[in-house]
Amino acid sequence: MRPPTWHSEHVTLTPVDALPSREVRVRAPGKVNLSLRVGARQPDGYHPVSTVFQAVSVYEEVVASPHEGILVTVGGPQSDAVPTDDSNLAVRAARLLAERTGVVDDVHLHLVKGVPVAGGMAGGSADAAAALVACDALWSTGLSRDDLARLAASLGADVPFLLTGHTAVGAGRGDLLTPALTRGEFHWAFAVRDQGLSTAAVYAAFDARHRDAPPPAPSDADDVPLMQALLAGDAVALGRALHNDLQPAALDLAPDLAEPLQVARDAGALGVVVSGSGPTVAALARNRQHALVVAAAFTAAGVADRVLTAVGPVAGARVVSNGD
Ligand code: ATP
Repeated sequence: MRPPTWHSEHVTLTPVDALPSREVRVRAPGKVNLSLRVGARQPDGYHPVSTVFQAVSVYEEVVASPHEGILVTVGGPQSDAVPTDDSNLAVRAARLLAERTGVVDDVHLHLVKGVPVAGGMAGGSADAAAALVACDALWSTGLSRDDLARLAASLGADVPFLLTGHTAVGAGRGDLLTPALTRGEFHWAFAVRDQGLSTAAVYAAFDARHRDAPPPAPSDADDVPLMQALLAGDAVALGRALHNDLQPAALDLAPDLAEPLQVARDAGALGVVVSGSGPTVAALARNRQHALVVAAAFTAAGVADRVLTAVGPVAGARVVSNGD
């Protein structure tokens, strides 16, 4: 249908709300921690970590378009579990960017969830990274990637990594990043559960385990074999080097996670680990075909609500389209 028009003597005007609305589409990946070493809880409540992140081809998509005020809508699997109020990390990212650049925070953010919710793959942080990039483009704030990285760090420890992607070592709370050199692609199968695990609860279980004997200070010195495996593109050595200090704590809260871990080993996975704070189980496969075999084994054994396969490393938050 043609939009209604106003007629004057010389020109025909189209009302503003009938103009095509600009839309910026950004994709950001989820992550798996190849290694996660956790130290003792500090007086400020945080735990120092030494971690090796890898961004994998399981994506969140954030579509930003003009709107009066901030509106967030969510689609995709498990979207019911995602808050649409001010606690949503994408909303926090948009507000922070507007505040720091002095623009009015008018935007509709539509999130398409591909990364498991509360699954230990940092889907919320990926949304925050994607929202920063999307609003920066929509509002033409023109911030540099370094400026965005500084904003990202104040939104959460995993957000800076999801902005850059690829593979990186994270120190501090995981936000002090050093890129890691890698060769080739690694293939993953993920066993996903509908019922997520709270990161805070997993850290509390970790603290309970270490009440009498505090854990050592986390150090990337323990990840030399892992870094060598990445550099050589040696998936067998990488599989042997996967490590997660939070895994026993996640198993305390969800003992049946032992099942997908065992199923992956039986299916010949090169290594298997709980991703971050869980409950997603990440299995490293020999190649793409083998990743499908491991995923099929998860399904056949009934140890996952959903399975995913992916490749890593991949790039961080990127604009995929910027137009009408
Ligand atoms: P991490 O490994 O970074 O701790 P996670 O992958 O385990 O995170 P997320 O899906 O990132 O978990 O989010 C955890 C919780 O954060 C959710 O249960 C939800 O209540 C809240 N949350 C806030 N914003 C979002 C968002 N955009 N997407 C998903 N969850 C969000």
